[in-house]
Amino acid sequence: MTENQHLDTTAITAGRRGMRGLSADISTSTVWSSDGLSTTHNEILRGRRGKAYSRYANPTVRQFEEAVAELEGAEDALAFASGMGAIATVVFALCSPGDHIVAQQQLYGGTLALLAGPVRRMGIDVTLVDATVPGAFAEAAKKPRTMLVIAETPANPALAIADLDEVGAIGAPFTLVDSTFATPMCQQPLCHGVNISLHSATKAIGGHNDALIGVIAADTDIIDAVWAHSVLHGAAASPYDAHNALRGIRTLAVRQERQCSTATELASWLARHDRVTAVHYPGLATHPQHAIAARQMTAFGSMLSVEIDGGHDACTRFLQAVELVRPATSLGGPETLVCHPASSTHFGLDSESLAASAAADGLLRISVGLENPADLIADLERALTKNRP
Ligand SMILES: *Cc1c(COP(=O)(O)O)cnc(C)c1O
Repeated sequence: MTENQHLDTTAITAGRRGMRGLSADISTSTVWSSDGLSTTHNEILRGRRGKAYSRYANPTVRQFEEAVAELEGAEDALAFASGMGAIATVVFALCSPGDHIVAQQQLYGGTLALLAGPVRRMGIDVTLVDATVPGAFAEAAKKPRTMLVIAETPANPALAIADLDEVGAIGAPFTLVDSTFATPMCQQPLCHGVNISLHSATKAIGGHNDALIGVIAADTDIIDAVWAHSVLHGAAASPYDAHNALRGIRTLAVRQERQCSTATELASWLARHDRVTAVHYPGLATHPQHAIAARQMTAFGSMLSVEIDGGHDACTRFLQAVELVRPATSLGGPETLVCHPASSTHFGLDSESLAASAAADGLLRISVGLENPADLIADLERALTKNRP
């Protein structure tokens, strides 16, 4: 990478390391032979830099990691079998019983469930804060054993924004931002002093709904520490998924550009619709943290959520009425998807956590895809009017 190269060019050049093949080779071996006992031993000692066993290190996965590190402006990156594999491994790698985690209450449902269940069961104390209250993270992070702060921005499901400068300035040993909704194209948490940027690359980075993979980007000493646990947790990324995700990175910039612009168009259109009671999109001037989003994001992402009058029943009818837009719970792919977080991504949370996470019963989350915006608007219009109570 040359200095001052633009990020969309880096999406094309990242992770190539002098490779001649323009597409990454899929390294299918789980194990590599050696010419003797001492070589095997040496490769194992080299850890994630060695070539011995695929749970320790895999060349295709490595190429994906190097590409993500470049896009995030990080020293290094580490991939996992999924976004949850990344989050769980980081938490258990960095925290011990008696430690304290501060996390925002507006989080991906799986992360909330991890913190409420397995993390608390390990004797790790968790405080949830409202990311939209200025100073809330720092205030809660004052306990003597606060080890890790977890933010997600923009956040599931109502697009709350956490202030990256504020999170980056917290004195806790580790700060982590789940940046999945933004992708490295829209924001770079590490530039704000955050230690770890995390993605479910299953979503927009992979971008084609055909790779389940998670990744963190951070300084090498953090990556080494998390890797040491990662080989024991076993949530290693598959080379097939790493290959698909790396292919996704090549078009990430142009996909994001189109998806963010369509999301902006849909958000403004929805905000004017008489069936819509609220639109949550960080790019709208009406978003309560629009000014923070404008400071830390170069574009506002492809995710928005919308509340429609008629609550749960209206959402059910809406999901049945859409034809082009597909009801599904994932995001970041070519197809525009809609989901009802209260009964899917956030299902199983108690009503208090649901309310705190802002997964209202009348709320629909939309992942904006690559279709023509006019066709999407026609479909949404049909579903909203058909659905009139
Ligand atoms: C999907 C998602 C995850 C979990 O990632 P998986 O790859 O499904 O394990 C975590 N955080 C956010 C914001 C997500 O959207």
